Amino acid sequence: MSKMYLGVDIGGTAVKLGLVDDTGAVLRRAERSVSFDGYKTPILDTVQAAIRDFLAQDPPAVAGIGVSATGQIDSRRGVVAGTCGNFPGWIGVKIKDTLEREFNLPVTVANDANCMLLGEVWAGAAKGYTDVIGVTLGTGVGGGILTGGHLLEGARGLGGELGHYRLHALDGVVCTCGAIGCYERYAATTALVRGAKSAGLELPDGRAIFEAVAAGNARAAAVLDRWIDEVAQGLAGLVHIFNPQLILVGGGVSAQQKLLIDPLAEKVRSSVMPAFAQGLEIQAAALQNDAGLVGAVYYFLQNAPQ
Ligand SMILES: [Zn+2]
Repeated sequence: MSKMYLGVDIGGTAVKLGLVDDTGAVLRRAERSVSFDGYKTPILDTVQAAIRDFLAQDPPAVAGIGVSATGQIDSRRGVVAGTCGNFPGWIGVKIKDTLEREFNLPVTVANDANCMLLGEVWAGAAKGYTDVIGVTLGTGVGGGILTGGHLLEGARGLGGELGHYRLHALDGVVCTCGAIGCYERYAATTALVRGAKSAGLELPDGRAIFEAVAAGNARAAAVLDRWIDEVAQGLAGLVHIFNPQLILVGGGVSAQQKLLIDPLAEKVRSSVMPAFAQGLEIQAAALQNDAGLVGAVYYFLQNAPQ
């Protein structure tokens, strides 16, 4: 019988749990809100209760816990090193030590965007690739970089934070991190919505904008095109640094193959030096909701003392 692991994906609003086997298949899932009382209950308390309940049902012999967590995660120590101020009480939380003590199992912790990329590498759209840039376009921008088959972590595990790569530092929009002109402020779906608003369009979210474009609204199409330009320019800069085979795009908008992935691929390829465009693929992520917890288990398998 194959070994089983618990994957835990701690997001800003919910924690997802999954029983994952050693091939990356998810056998059972659960989800619980972490923001139900406006974070009065500390996030990690909710996570611990959710794990306890999950392991109590039909108890599997779990060999370890891989955690994917929101925020800047010091993966060497398994501690939350920073946030952009969104989650009260999250900075300094000792995820690894607390869970190891409580469940008497080995635990690893890594950043959620890095785990999403690893999930895709293990069991999703990036399987078999060694050099990948993962970018998740949502209310913020998450990122992860695989180079030479290894996750780029940096000195503390904080690496790959594409969202705060500064593209408009001199005249840009203020970011949640306090800096000016971060990529996230231009490439997140919130930037697309902001663009629609300043063009005088009453389209409240990304979905409405894509629907308007699909229905032939030329002003919405111009707003979308401008946004894809911003997404593409950031990626083009990274292509020159990392020379990836694949750029993997995640987030709800990545389902828009014709209106997003195809034009984005075209813009990235035409914005890089020709040699960098050769063989460069741009694809939508495959695992979506499971990617974080599956990748957390893959991180565990690669990093936990066995
Ligand atoms: Zn920023």
